[in-house]
Amino acid sequence: MTKTVLISGAGIAGPTLGYWLGAAGFETTLIEKAPSLRSGGYVIDFWGHGYDLAERMELLPAINHAGYRIKELCVVDDGGDKAAGFGTNVFHELTGGRYVTLPRSELSRLLYEKVAQSSEVLFGTEILGLDQDQGGVSVQLSRGGPRRFDLVIGADGLHSRVRELAFGPIRQFERQLGYTVAAFEAAGYRPRNEDVYVMYGQPGRMLGRVSLRDDRTLFLFVFAGTPEPFPQNREAQKALIRQRYADAKWEVPALLSELDRAEDLYFDRVSQIWMPNWSQGRIALVGDAAFCVSLLAGQGSALAMISAYVLAGEIAKAGEAHQPAFAAYEHLLRDFVRGKQEAARRFAGAFAPRTRWGLAFRNFVINAFAIPGLARWAIGHDITDRLALPQYSWRQTAGKAKRSSAQ
Ligand SMILES: Cc1cc2nc3c(=O)[nH]c(=O)nc-3n(C[C@H](O)[C@H](O)[C@H](O)COP(=O)(O)OP(=O)(O)OC[C@H]3O[C@@H](n4cnc5c(N)ncnc54)[C@H](O)[C@@H]3O)c2cc1C
Repeated sequence: MTKTVLISGAGIAGPTLGYWLGAAGFETTLIEKAPSLRSGGYVIDFWGHGYDLAERMELLPAINHAGYRIKELCVVDDGGDKAAGFGTNVFHELTGGRYVTLPRSELSRLLYEKVAQSSEVLFGTEILGLDQDQGGVSVQLSRGGPRRFDLVIGADGLHSRVRELAFGPIRQFERQLGYTVAAFEAAGYRPRNEDVYVMYGQPGRMLGRVSLRDDRTLFLFVFAGTPEPFPQNREAQKALIRQRYADAKWEVPALLSELDRAEDLYFDRVSQIWMPNWSQGRIALVGDAAFCVSLLAGQGSALAMISAYVLAGEIAKAGEAHQPAFAAYEHLLRDFVRGKQEAARRFAGAFAPRTRWGLAFRNFVINAFAIPGLARWAIGHDITDRLALPQYSWRQTAGKAKRSSAQ
C-alpha cells in the first residue's frame, strides 16, 4: 500500500490534494517555496465543481463570508463614463446562486487551514532534485536534506519545478496566449464602486478595478505582448507597465502612482500548459502545473481543486498500484480540461481586443448581454461543467489526523 506522498506547492491544488489524501489515510508532506502562504494577488470567480468540492470540504460558509457578489460589469471610456455593461446576475441564475468572487489568497488560506493539522508542512522549502526507482522517489529538499517518498506530486503552478525536473523545461509545454498580466492591491484608493467590476480598455490593453473590503482596491492590467526577455525583477515589471499605459486616460495616471508604491505585484505571461501526459513513473502533476488553462478560462482554481480531488480518489481506489491511478486520473479529466483550454483560447481576443473595431465590437456584445436571455444563451454552455464528479469512498474524516507541522 502506498503510504507517503510529497506535495510541492501550497496554492489551491496542493492543499486540496493533501486534504483528500489525508481522508484516504495517506501520510502527506506539503512543501511551499514561499516563506508563508502567498497573500495579495488577484480575485477569482469561483463556481461549478470547485464550489461543489468546497462544499464537501465544509468550506462554503467561510468562502461566502470572504467573497463578494459582484453585481455589474461596467466598461468605462476615457472620461470615466459608462460605455458598456451588464448585470452579472445571469452568472448567479445559471449556477443557482453557487457563484462567488474572492481573493485567490483567501481560497488558498481556507484550503490550507483544512490540511495544516493533518499534514506535515514545510514553508520556505523546495525540491532541488528528484530520483525515482521501482520502490519510491528520493528527493533532495532545499531544507531538511534527502527524503524518500512513495509518490511525488507537483502542485507548484504554471512555472512548476516538479514538471521541469521530471518532464523537461517549460518551453516544451507552454502555449503563450500573447498577453501579459499584472495585479496589485492598494489601500484607500478613490473612487470606489462597491460590487462593480470597472473595466477600462484601449486597443491591446485593459485595466480592471475592483473595490475590496477594508478600504482596499484591486487593479488588474492585461496587455498585448510578452516581451523577450520577460522582466523578472519588480522594478523592471513596473517600468514595463508604466511604459505600456503611459498615454492611457481615465484614472490611469492615479493608478500608475499607486503602482509605484505597490510592494506586492503579481506579474506573468498569460499562458497555458499542454502536456502529452501528466505523470511519469511515481511523479504526477495537478492544477496549473499539469494543464494551466490561464486566467481567460476564469476557472483555473476550480480545475486545480477538481484535479486534486480526482487524483486523490484514484490513488485511494488503486491502493498499492499508482500507475492505474495516474492513468484513470488523466483519462477522467483530459478531455474536460482540454475543452476549458480551448474555450479560453477562443475568449482571448475578446478580453483585451487589439484594435478599435475589436473594442467597439466587444462593447457591443457586452451591451447585448443586457438583453434578457441572450447572456444565458451565450455563456450557458461554457459555464456548465460537463463532467460527473466521481464519488470515492474515504476512510476517515479528512483533516482530523494530527501530524507534526513545521514552519
Ligand atoms: C489574473 C488571474 C485571474 C484569474 N482568475 C481566475 C478566476 O476568475 N477563476 C479561477 O478559478 N481561476 C482564476 N485564475 C487561475 C487560478 O488562479 C489558477 O488556475 C490557480 O491558482 C491554480 O492553482 P494551483 O494550485 O495549481 O497553482 P497556484 O495557485 O499557482 O499555486 C502554486 C503554489 O506553488 C508554489 N510554488 C511555486 N514553485 C514552487 C516550488 N519550486 N516549490 C514549492 N512550491 C512552489 C507557489 O508559491 C504557490 O503557492 C486566475 C489567474 C490569474 C493569473
